Amino acid sequence: MTDQTLEYVVLRCRGCQTAYPAALEYACSRCLGPLDPEYDAEEVAKRLSRDGIEAGPRSIWRYAPLLPASPGPGDLAPGLTPLVPAPRLAEALGVPGPLLLKDDTRNPTNSFKDRVVAVAVARARAFGLSTVACASTGNLAGATAAAAAAQGLECVVVIPADLEAGKVASAAAFGATVVAVEGSYDQANRLSMQAVEAFGWGFVNVNLRPWYAEGSKTVGLEVAEQLGWSLPEHVVVPIASGALLTKVHQGFGVLADHGLVERTPAKVHGAQSVGCSPVAAAFAAGVDEVTPVRPSGIVKSLAIGDPADGAEALATVRGTGGRVEAVDDSEVVEAIELLARTTGVFGETAAGVTVATVGRLAARGEFRPGERVVALITGHGLKTREVLDGRAGATVTVRPNIDALSEALEPLRPGLAVPG
Ligand SMILES: *Cc1c(COP(=O)(O)O)cnc(C)c1O
Ligand SMILES: [Zn+2]
Repeated sequence: MTDQTLEYVVLRCRGCQTAYPAALEYACSRCLGPLDPEYDAEEVAKRLSRDGIEAGPRSIWRYAPLLPASPGPGDLAPGLTPLVPAPRLAEALGVPGPLLLKDDTRNPTNSFKDRVVAVAVARARAFGLSTVACASTGNLAGATAAAAAAQGLECVVVIPADLEAGKVASAAAFGATVVAVEGSYDQANRLSMQAVEAFGWGFVNVNLRPWYAEGSKTVGLEVAEQLGWSLPEHVVVPIASGALLTKVHQGFGVLADHGLVERTPAKVHGAQSVGCSPVAAAFAAGVDEVTPVRPSGIVKSLAIGDPADGAEALATVRGTGGRVEAVDDSEVVEAIELLARTTGVFGETAAGVTVATVGRLAARGEFRPGERVVALITGHGLKTREVLDGRAGATVTVRPNIDALSEALEPLRPGLAVPG
């Protein structure tokens, strides 16, 4: 299979630096280290310009010169999601400068995973694969299943059996074969590695992982473009495998390398939940190694106990002068509600983790007046709506007449139903 964009991409081992051609490989045959795409900078420079990007498609594909694939027929065109100011949330959290939300709930299947899947599936097709698959903490299942449905590919999603019903239902609705593993995500992931060997499917986050992870870079590219081609002073990123955080930072770097933004300091902060905080624990302990944990709690989309890019994410945070925080489940639920009530954006538990972390960082005095803080809202609240059960705000049931309505409203919100 030929694909023009790969003329100037090789795979380089993160461990021993050996370079490989851009093939369907994900581990170094010498040291088993992970492989990352590496672009020929001169070739990219020939193709990359602000004008070219701004005139491009309204999706991740506007950054085509920085992506290792081209979209095929049926591509769902994720990305270029809004970056929205959130002044009321900033005030509530004590953020002194502008707070902006990167609202990735607006992607085709309502999470940022549509970005990574778009790139991985485009590569899968270029490699001639007819079945795509994934090991998923939830959102990836829906994104992979939708892309496969739109592009006429077979799809198998492997999930831990205890996932939220909404996430399982959406993957199944798209026609994927859903395999629920009696065990954790990390066990589902290990089973997937064996399935790669046994069946030769294209697992977007296993054998296609080098390409998949590149899709995350587009979040950083878009934020910089949407800030008028400048880098934010702070970005707060939820961590599962750590790829999103690492790639957002790489996205900032590559734009600076090519002179599209000024190389100003941009602190990258990581957000985890107490129920699964291996990177936050390593950060707090001041060590470089990330020790695997057994996940618990309500934040299932971030529940990777042995994160593939955890050490990389940790090094990225430290290199930028950022922090990694871990917030507990009650803070997550409160943050989901605060976000919804001050911005109109309904985020899932990962968004609650991010927003609660913004509050933590603000309380620590990490943000100075005038500094722009970007919070990544990576998934939609309807997917994890059960965490709000029993907390619904003001619901009143009334008989259908105006006196009953007036009577019912009075104790809830005095003054709301004053005769006008
Ligand atoms: C997968 C996911 C993340 C984190 O992604 P990694 O790249 O694995 O760190 C964040 N938020 C949501 C909602 C996700 O589904
Ligand atoms: Zn190697």
